[in-house]
Amino acid sequence: MNKSLFENTEVAFKMKKNFHLYNAIFLFNIITKKILVGILTNLTITMLKFRLPIKWILKGTIYKHFCGGIHIAECKKIISDMYKMNVCSILDYSVEGLNNENSFNNSCEKKIEIIDIVSENDAVPFAVFKPTSIGRYGLFKAVSDGKKLLKDEEDEWSNVVTRFHKICNHALINKTKILIDAEEYEVQKAIDELALEMMKSYNKEYVIVYNTIQLYRWDRIDYLNKLFKDYSKSKFNFGFKLVRGAYMEKERLLAKNGNYKSPICSSKNETDLNFNKAIDLMFKHIKKADFFIATHNEFSNYKVIDLMKKNEIKNNSDKIWFGQLYGMSDNITFNLASEGYNVAKILPFGPVENLVPYLIRRAQENSSFQGQSSRELSLLKKELIRRSS
Ligand SMILES: Cc1cc2nc3c(=O)[nH]c(=O)nc-3n(C[C@H](O)[C@H](O)[C@H](O)COP(=O)(O)OP(=O)(O)OC[C@H]3O[C@@H](n4cnc5c(N)ncnc54)[C@H](O)[C@@H]3O)c2cc1C
Repeated sequence: MNKSLFENTEVAFKMKKNFHLYNAIFLFNIITKKILVGILTNLTITMLKFRLPIKWILKGTIYKHFCGGIHIAECKKIISDMYKMNVCSILDYSVEGLNNENSFNNSCEKKIEIIDIVSENDAVPFAVFKPTSIGRYGLFKAVSDGKKLLKDEEDEWSNVVTRFHKICNHALINKTKILIDAEEYEVQKAIDELALEMMKSYNKEYVIVYNTIQLYRWDRIDYLNKLFKDYSKSKFNFGFKLVRGAYMEKERLLAKNGNYKSPICSSKNETDLNFNKAIDLMFKHIKKADFFIATHNEFSNYKVIDLMKKNEIKNNSDKIWFGQLYGMSDNITFNLASEGYNVAKILPFGPVENLVPYLIRRAQENSSFQGQSSRELSLLKKELIRRSS
């Protein structure tokens, strides 16, 4: 395995001017400090609660680094600049914590509108949605728990199913692939069942719908094996987005409070082994599944590249996509793109206050796993040194 591809900082940061690099260094220096992140997170939440003027500080710093802008129009320059370097974008309109039918309908319409806007644009081949942005969290939980729903809840659930179909059908009509995000364990069973229903309905001629598999869950390899076994002869194909998982600390707390066995692997190493197994499974069933490998982990990306070569799969085969979040791991994204692999960045957009939970997750993630943020810092510094020599 050639492990030098992601070392090229000239390609990685071609889009960034020096002051962008200095800003990023400043930001990563802050978010690598767990205690500081904790204090700043609480401060931000309190200031937003009391409507104190913090939005402009966020907008000029962490928001600017990880998000595209408030409206799609604000994201256009980033989208076209990245596309010039062969990197696609996935527009993610982030809204979290919605809780009434009206807001779920609006959110569904927003996804449809995004599909309409991006369907003509080769730079944006995927759309994405978070299931609990179009249905109540508590309802997903009740369905996942197998609870008998009341009449009102049944109607509410039927609205959720209709919204799923509406988005996926619209994606099919417009030939835009759609990624369904994975969420907390307590709501994921209902999401998986709906996602499977969508794949059966819309992944016939080509793969439109991708469900997300979180490999920090120790039960997911069995789940994947069962799907491949149960549907080996069926007419539809699978689409999977592979991730490690973003809610580890919350999951452990939920399991402790709920007095059930944590769904999360007991160590990072166990998660990594699971992730490797999932990649192997994808290649084993490559005829039956397209996949999107969503990770900032260099080893995982190298592993996929390696297996593509071994299996004689072309770099630009539509069956395999790579993806990172905007603002992270440019060394992976832009170097993959320079070699002709399909690669896309998730580009969140929307009002600053809507994106606060997303930004907090990014900050906490970077402070929890020193490895990744230190890597970002060392690459940024390496590029500044290269430019000055
Ligand atoms: C394009 C894209 C889309 C994404 N979509 C989703 C999504 O829909 N749902 C979602 O949940 N996440 C999503 N994520 C986030 C993802 O799940 C990870 O949180 C993030 O990418 C970090 O993992 P990694 O593989 O990049 O890096 P790594 O640094 O290799 O791994 C970090 C991850 O390893 C796991 N881990 C760390 N320590 C331990 C431990 N002690 N025990 C067990 N496991 C551990 C955690 O999952 C942690 O996030 C997405 C990420 C990307 C890039």
